[in-house]
Amino acid sequence: MYLGVEVLHDLPHHTIHIASDYQKNLDEIENQHVLSADPSFYIQNACVTDSSLAPQGQSTLYVLVPVTHQHPNVDWSKEAPAFRENVLDHVDKLGLSDLRRRIRFEKIVTPDDWDSSYEVHNEATFNMAHNFNQMLHKRPNNRFEDLDGVYLVGGGTHPGSGPPVIYESARITIRLIAADLGPVSAKASRPSHSSATR
Ligand SMILES: Cc1cc2nc3c(=O)[nH]c(=O)nc-3n(C[C@H](O)[C@H](O)[C@H](O)COP(=O)(O)OP(=O)(O)OC[C@H]3O[C@@H](n4cnc5c(N)ncnc54)[C@H](O)[C@@H]3O)c2cc1C
Repeated sequence: MYLGVEVLHDLPHHTIHIASDYQKNLDEIENQHVLSADPSFYIQNACVTDSSLAPQGQSTLYVLVPVTHQHPNVDWSKEAPAFRENVLDHVDKLGLSDLRRRIRFEKIVTPDDWDSSYEVHNEATFNMAHNFNQMLHKRPNNRFEDLDGVYLVGGGTHPGSGPPVIYESARITIRLIAADLGPVSAKASRPSHSSATR
């Protein structure tokens, strides 16, 4: 949920709210594939760090609510409005009272949207599973195994998803390319004016 609100809340940049029954919340996400009445969520109140993100005195809020991937148990076209109300009720309890009335802009992205609008297959926004069975060395290698001269980089390859690890993926891939092809200086790889016009 991306919100533009007409006030700057007294909330830290990062806030994580854990459901009172966290085990149940995880079970509802992973096994039962239903929306939790008491969800966990993360709120980013970025304007306390960078006030240029919104007009003076106003702010942006980003609310991330972990939910099940697409499943017949959840029809987002029907359930999204009630789930929005539920999430806002919980957010209110963190001291952001009257938030609904102060929302000037709102965009909600559900698992349906990841698939239909953003073409993320199976809404796998973290690519393969974000667990030890599919992380690190269990992810595809950075050097393509079946085709010479093809390299992989990013969240879907070794070592895994999330920008800090993805930067490492880029470093590993570039090292492999340099080892295979030899380092190419920026100058040497750029066509000279005369060769470009020939
Ligand atoms: C809601 C959400 C919250 C997240 N929170 C966190 C977090 O808190 N911490 C964290 O570490 N990670 C988080 N992640 C995961 C993180 O965002 C991803 O792991 C990371 O962005 C993947 O980077 P990437 O470079 O591999 O791919 P992407 O960032 O997806 O970049 C791929 C790019 O390629 C472009 N592209 C695709 N196809 C083509 C094409 N045919 N031609 C040209 N361009 C193309 C796309 O438009 C895109 O810009 C989150 C992800 C989501 C969705």
